[in-house]
Amino acid sequence: MKNEPRTILPNARLTPRFAGICTFGRYPLLEDVVESCRPVDWAIFGAPFDSGVTYRPGTRFGPRAIRTESQYLKPYHIEHDLMLTEVLSLADAGDSPVNPFSCETNARVIADFAKGLGDASTKLLMLGGDHSNTLATLRAAHARAGAPRGGLAMIHFDSHVDTVDMTLGEKYSHASPFIRAVEEGVLDPQRMLSIGVKGPLNTPDDLRYAREKGVTLVTYEQWRREGTKTIDAFLKKLGDDPTYLTFDIDCIDPAFAPGTGTPCLGGFTSAEALALLRHVATVAGPPNLVGADVVEVLPDRDVSGITALLAAHVAFEILCIDGLRRRGAR
Ligand code: MN
Ligand code: MN
Repeated sequence: MKNEPRTILPNARLTPRFAGICTFGRYPLLEDVVESCRPVDWAIFGAPFDSGVTYRPGTRFGPRAIRTESQYLKPYHIEHDLMLTEVLSLADAGDSPVNPFSCETNARVIADFAKGLGDASTKLLMLGGDHSNTLATLRAAHARAGAPRGGLAMIHFDSHVDTVDMTLGEKYSHASPFIRAVEEGVLDPQRMLSIGVKGPLNTPDDLRYAREKGVTLVTYEQWRREGTKTIDAFLKKLGDDPTYLTFDIDCIDPAFAPGTGTPCLGGFTSAEALALLRHVATVAGPPNLVGADVVEVLPDRDVSGITALLAAHVAFEILCIDGLRRRGAR
């Protein structure tokens, strides 16, 4: 017997992928989801805000570019043997309202929007925008997960640790989301894994906060030397803890993802990053994701949409992690 779809996609044989309103992955708009596909498991929304950047702006156009490149996303994952749309109800919730003039206000505006999306069980996948937007989505994901004491665990892909206290006199920017999240109690640094960190840095102090707070750091070079040893140990210890996955596209080598505002040379290839996400899904059983994002896509520096296309596929891999978990639970 054929399984009933949890997400109803347009038939690509009847409605071509280059036509129609451009939603992420051609998933339905949140308000258009039919009764049989409710409650929605994941609401995907854009955070078109980039006033928190320390270098080149433009990621406010990231959500649109990712949606455009996501039109060619197909629902069947070969490696996981997973038909994503049969296990998860997915919907595009549009873009959050933003305040482009204040990073601190914006984080409140986006958190309020994200807290109100879908049903109580609906999880959040944010498309950025700069990394300051993660503070907002983290707040909302933490609240929606029942506000666990001590905060959420986190799997963080990035060239940077993003735990700078003050930048140019400001406490809120894309360099600071995780120090603020720890202070607010929505993120537990001792259950935070940062993968792909690389230099050069402004000073050795840039890593001090993360080290003192017990963040597990896996630099890109360390991953090259030891493989996934430290990552695997972290994931095995993580168990079923509610976890947020954040993916800063600048962890990818700019040779593969040039469209970003603070590029760092010598990171993951596209293939390495996708393989690593598949590994995260399987090494210790799929982690209990309660929220996620893909951020820092800057279309005006992109080449042929390659960075936005990768971001769309990273979002798909993240959804497949939860898809695997759901399939296992049934
Ligand atoms: Mn970042
Ligand atoms: Mn970064």
